[in-house]
Amino acid sequence: MVDHPTSSVLPAPSAPTASPDAIVIGAGPGGLAAAAALSRRGVRTLVLERSDAVAASWRGHYDRLHLHTTRRLSGLPGFAIPRAYGRWVGRDDVIRYLERYTAHHRIDVATGIEVSRIDRVDGVDRAGIAAGSSGGAGGRGGKGGSAGGGTWQLPATGGRLLTASVVVVATGTNHVPHVPDWPGRDGFSGELLHAAHYRNAEPYVGRDVLVVGVGNTGAEIAVDLIEAGAARVRIAVRTPPHILRRTTAGWPAQATGILCRRLPTAVVDRVAPYVERLSVPDLSAYGLARPTTGLYSRVRDDGAIPVQDVGLIDAIQARRVEPVAAVESFDGDKVVLADGSGISPEVVIAATGYRRGLEPLVGHLGVLDGNGRPVVHGPHTPPGAPGLYFTGFTNPISGMFRELAIDARRIARAAARTSRRP
Ligand SMILES: Cc1cc2nc3c(=O)[nH]c(=O)nc-3n(C[C@H](O)[C@H](O)[C@H](O)COP(=O)(O)OP(=O)(O)OC[C@H]3O[C@@H](n4cnc5c(N)ncnc54)[C@H](O)[C@@H]3O)c2cc1C
Repeated sequence: MVDHPTSSVLPAPSAPTASPDAIVIGAGPGGLAAAAALSRRGVRTLVLERSDAVAASWRGHYDRLHLHTTRRLSGLPGFAIPRAYGRWVGRDDVIRYLERYTAHHRIDVATGIEVSRIDRVDGVDRAGIAAGSSGGAGGRGGKGGSAGGGTWQLPATGGRLLTASVVVVATGTNHVPHVPDWPGRDGFSGELLHAAHYRNAEPYVGRDVLVVGVGNTGAEIAVDLIEAGAARVRIAVRTPPHILRRTTAGWPAQATGILCRRLPTAVVDRVAPYVERLSVPDLSAYGLARPTTGLYSRVRDDGAIPVQDVGLIDAIQARRVEPVAAVESFDGDKVVLADGSGISPEVVIAATGYRRGLEPLVGHLGVLDGNGRPVVHGPHTPPGAPGLYFTGFTNPISGMFRELAIDARRIARAAARTSRRP
């Protein structure tokens, strides 16, 4: 028997996999989709989740968040998002969906277990789990063939040492909230928080707030703030974003994104400004210039997904959200902007993105590029790392849930070949 808790969302206490062929790290949509697809192919799979439930990231997101990708195009393999959740699925329903998905596929999730590192042990052909073990690779029952004559060892919470021939890393691209190291930041006398810690506008009613960053999160938080009654809302913009309507005549922007993926970057970059001009008014007079960078180049080079409008355009036109220049530094109660001006908001919300934080897990394996991104994803394994898969570390214009679903099926197909039991 394996010594670990199983997720409370499982329909009945299902016996955890004693010696899995595959271990998936992370019980977000990416990990759950991969686990479901692997199990469907007969690969005995265990999901390890550091928090106490599946969908941990979604439980931490702000209250008004809805998927900006459609329900129909965001379902994971083998169990669609229920129609009753509507076209734009709210945060709580995303959580509910992932709980139901786990139950539906009877996914074996061990919660409260954080994997600290992944190591390759060549010549060991066992898959298993050993609580409190400090070495060796198990030695119990299973017949999981290794991918290339070795196995993976995963030290985890509680001194556990887990092993498997297939490991899927699904720890999320939005892993570590990132606040730039602005000069003077720590001496700011106002309140400074990352968007990851923003739940709703209630604490900011009647206050002067600066949102830094105009990605989807910053744009939506700015709108949330003014709708709830913040006294003043400014949004600091470094690079003018591409803004798209979430739908045009019922056609979702995500569907256009899916089509764009098949086109060369240069073609999308050239056509996009015409589409943007037709659907989005020029906001230059309000302080937000049209972007000069290519829409698809920015997705590919910077991972900057276009902003799907959920009220920002109207708010800017009504001068309720004021675009200002990028933040350069802090000086006491002042925020110094790139145009040389200084403002004194009471609160600064940094919607400045996340780091993948993969270095402690796999940095020593030579499987990350200079930006800390896995050198491969989906069904491909890095050179010298057979059986090691990554999902969820791209930022596709076609929607991440959709991409996670596609990757899950491909990973399962590839992994089943190497981990199949005789
Ligand atoms: C605000 C916001 C809105 C988004 N909206 C959309 C949208 O509308 N449509 C869309 O397609 N995508 C959207 N995305 C992008 C993406 O779909 C989500 O971030 C999605 O949750 C990514 O899934 P994931 O499984 O890769 O990572 P996560 O959901 O982040 O899951 C990773 C899991 O791994 C666990 N974990 C991490 N490290 C360890 C470890 N060492 N050991 C054990 N467990 C670990 C975490 O606790 C977490 O549960 C959005 C993202 C954000 C931030």
